Amino acid sequence: MLRFNALNDVLKRTPKHVEYPSDKISEFYATNVFTQEKMREFLPKEAYESVMASINEGTRIDRNIASQVASSMKDWALTKKVTHYTHWFQPLTGATAEKHDSFFTPISGGRGIERFDGDNLIQQEPDASSFPNGGIRNTFEARGYTAWDPTSPAFIIGRTLCIPTVFIAYTGEALDYKMPLLKALHAVDKAATAVCQYFDKDVNKVNASLGWEQEYFLIDSSLFNARPDIMMAGRALVGHNPAKGQQLDDHYFGSISERVVAFMKEFEIESLKLGIPVTTRHNEVAPNQFECAPMFEETNLANDHNLLLMDIMEKIARKHDFRILFHEKPFKSVNGSGKHNNWSLSTNTGVNLLSPGKNPKTNLRFLTFFVNTIKAIYDNADILRASIATAGNDHRLGANEAPPAIMSVFIGSQLTQMLDNIEKNVKAGKMTPEDKTELKLSIGKIPQILLDNTDRNRTSPFAFTGNKFEFRAVGSSANCASAMIALNAIIAKQLNEFKKSVDIAINKGVKKDEAIIKELQRLIKESKAIRFEGNGYGDEWVKEAERRGLSNLKDTPRAIKTMVDKNTKKLFAELEVFTEKELEARYEIELENYILKLQIESRVLGDIARNHILPTAFKYQNVLLQNIKGMDDVFGKENKEMTSTQRDVLKQLSLHVNTIKQKTDEMLEERKLANKIESPEKKALAYCDKVKPYFDEIKYHSDKLELMIDDTMWPLPKLREMLFTK
Ligand code: ADP
Ligand code: MG
Repeated sequence: MLRFNALNDVLKRTPKHVEYPSDKISEFYATNVFTQEKMREFLPKEAYESVMASINEGTRIDRNIASQVASSMKDWALTKKVTHYTHWFQPLTGATAEKHDSFFTPISGGRGIERFDGDNLIQQEPDASSFPNGGIRNTFEARGYTAWDPTSPAFIIGRTLCIPTVFIAYTGEALDYKMPLLKALHAVDKAATAVCQYFDKDVNKVNASLGWEQEYFLIDSSLFNARPDIMMAGRALVGHNPAKGQQLDDHYFGSISERVVAFMKEFEIESLKLGIPVTTRHNEVAPNQFECAPMFEETNLANDHNLLLMDIMEKIARKHDFRILFHEKPFKSVNGSGKHNNWSLSTNTGVNLLSPGKNPKTNLRFLTFFVNTIKAIYDNADILRASIATAGNDHRLGANEAPPAIMSVFIGSQLTQMLDNIEKNVKAGKMTPEDKTELKLSIGKIPQILLDNTDRNRTSPFAFTGNKFEFRAVGSSANCASAMIALNAIIAKQLNEFKKSVDIAINKGVKKDEAIIKELQRLIKESKAIRFEGNGYGDEWVKEAERRGLSNLKDTPRAIKTMVDKNTKKLFAELEVFTEKELEARYEIELENYILKLQIESRVLGDIARNHILPTAFKYQNVLLQNIKGMDDVFGKENKEMTSTQRDVLKQLSLHVNTIKQKTDEMLEERKLANKIESPEKKALAYCDKVKPYFDEIKYHSDKLELMIDDTMWPLPKLREMLFTK
């Protein structure tokens, strides 16, 4: 049986030996990246300066320069034995895509040369018809193209030079995650730079930074292959809780098994060569769950790095006979996986705008960005919620673990006091010199209070952690761009409004600091309801949030509807991040993704129930029947008490068997009905409300059977086997 063969495989595993390429990490760090340093070495001065200007100021690179860059890139790549190049992009499938072309070009006389020119660098036309486009391409334009993103450096994987690109339809609509992310980052740069002018005229650029923390599960590849549900849907659709779960908390920060360490070491080496600054590794809360985190970087680059890392992890895991699960909730009974997005804003002058300064002036700057962030979340919680909604994340948000589906902001008791203080004590009308002195004193206290790092809340979806916000509701399998587009766009919008209001006051003759403080006071008051310091898991919070008028959108179809409402369209259009058409298309794609995921889960579950679980139950029933017959022969039919246990088990088996059969049939009927629905919106709701509820019911009865049936007959690897094998 596959299960026992798999378990045997696991027993024979030994850790693979992995060597560092050299003694120090710094010696091989970023060796496979066309870094700024290498650009300086390989590029003519004019071309180098043009690329740097494009990175720092967003200026265009002309064709002539692009040809010089291409030629230098090729020269560098050839020194690394590279033969092919590809445009690397992020279609809305969620994975990354590439189409490889060879440098090699045949020329006359049976010879060939290595060629890569500016046109190859700038633009490519992948066959785009198989990527999701939400109707954009069908309706408007059949072709799309990829275009070079010079802000993210080219890198080498194997023997291929990869060029980060955006993916756009010929009619101009973005077909990927990178294009709108770059636009949102541009919007927040513009808005934040303008606000920074109140405090420091030298600021001319603000970068949003992203530091993600990637959680994942590992399971042995043989066990993985014996579980059709995990193979097809990424999660266990059946399986009883192991006797020991995460109650003991002994996995968290515990020692990591040698096999896993070898895997981590190898993927870290590969990541470091690609310039991904991974620094942290540790176990997570659940058994066989781990986390990896790099140093934070500029958001676009950080996101490219996250996608690259996920790719690398997947490949390296197989080399170590593991399979990596990025699903948000692979196992119902243990903690799910997230991808915390640590976010902040920093200036070209080297200031972190969410880090309190050393004096009242810099602290007022801090408060400005801090309070505006809170207000942006308050006004646009539903947009943020929509940005992280997926079928996988639905199992995590709102389940009994961090974080809930209700968006709220945690800032700690001391900053809460600070905001309360401003809210209550800044008087209406003109401020007196005494008022100002008092306020300065109070604002000046922030740096001290933030040293107290014990003030942390792990249950909040959006928490301030000293010098950054941590958006914890992002799912582990997500492309961070989705969350980062939403977050940076709503911050941009809020900062624009803030600037407008403060300028109006200043034009009326109010002093700048006073105008800022008064506006902050208003924002603090208006956004108070989004601040929550308590336990985000509790039922009380659900009730309290409802009283406060906060949304609690528990599933994807309901959460993503916000993407296409009037306010969302207006917000994104004004910031030039998404057109209405693009939002409509993305909405449709996400609905389709959701439907497909649930459809696959439902089919796999049906297969497992009919082909694995029920036949196993029948076999075991036969064993019991044989046993009862034999017992009756020996002790006589009339001595029923001799076989009472067997009869009892037989009866219970039949009850569960019948229920599974009935529920599986009903699920199939509901699926058929749902599939007939034309509107993707209604279809997604049907899958959510009519099909999905069967999953847990069928699982419940299957798990009961798992507990009753002879262990040697059970065909599917059990949760304890998948979670506790090292
Ligand atoms: P944890 O959340 O696990 O307690 P930390 O709070 O120490 O971990 O940091 C988590 C992440 O925050 C790290 O990956 C780090 O790179 C990132 N980070 C630190 N400063 C910033 C910043 N200014 N902007 C974005 N991310 C940051
Ligand atoms: Mg964290």
